[in-house]
Amino acid sequence: MSRTWELLANREPFRSYRTLFNVWRVDLVSPVSGVSGDPTADVSRDTPLAASYWCDGLQRLLCADIEQVKHYAGFAPDADQVAVLANSGMYGGAGYTEEEVATFAGGHPLAAEILPHELGHSIGDLADEYDYYAFPDDGSRYRGPEPAEANISKKNADQLLHPRKKWWYWLGADTPDGGVIDAYEGGYYTQFGIYRPSQNSLMKALRREFNVVSREKMIQSFYATVRPIDAAVPSGAAVAPGGTLAIEVLAVPPGCAAPSTGRDT
Ligand SMILES: [Zn+2]
Repeated sequence: MSRTWELLANREPFRSYRTLFNVWRVDLVSPVSGVSGDPTADVSRDTPLAASYWCDGLQRLLCADIEQVKHYAGFAPDADQVAVLANSGMYGGAGYTEEEVATFAGGHPLAAEILPHELGHSIGDLADEYDYYAFPDDGSRYRGPEPAEANISKKNADQLLHPRKKWWYWLGADTPDGGVIDAYEGGYYTQFGIYRPSQNSLMKALRREFNVVSREKMIQSFYATVRPIDAAVPSGAAVAPGGTLAIEVLAVPPGCAAPSTGRDT
């Protein structure tokens, strides 16, 4: 886990905002080794977090009993995000957007790479940008409503620009995962009728960077969780007319200003 955190802490945007994070580790002793669904769907193991592959019929989707996860996470003080490391070498993970929980296979060589992607889901409420695993009835064309996630849209670049939706203000900008921000068709498990901001970001493939759209959303989520003001004088009292309010803000490295808010999304 410490190796995974080291890699995570060196990956943007975690790297620049590392001072916002306090990391605690809770060790659990399981009566049996391994987790359910490894190596095949019929394998069942009675483990404290009930971690299991083949969630929703997908081999690599690694679910856990969220109630138990929260129970054990309670041994650490005030957890905002929980990363569940499963004792398995089989590739897999999951990000629970509603529950602030991410899972990953601790024994897989790509374990440290899986976690930032899953945290993209659990912290940033980001969508998957890959175009496979379409749910059978949907075929290869997306036919659902406009997704809520910041990094996926039914709109092409023109439709994003007029009337200014989702990542319209990033269109044409360089992005750390390569190329420029545009509306690239494919994502959200389907090939057509849905667009992603960049060609190949971490929400599409491992060993990649988040694109700027996702990076911005992650940073906004950090600030939604962390109180960025350490101290204020006067504290807890109204400032009299003509008076002075002094605030001490949480230190982040130079150049990492709080993102602006109130943009049209
Ligand atoms: Zn994903």
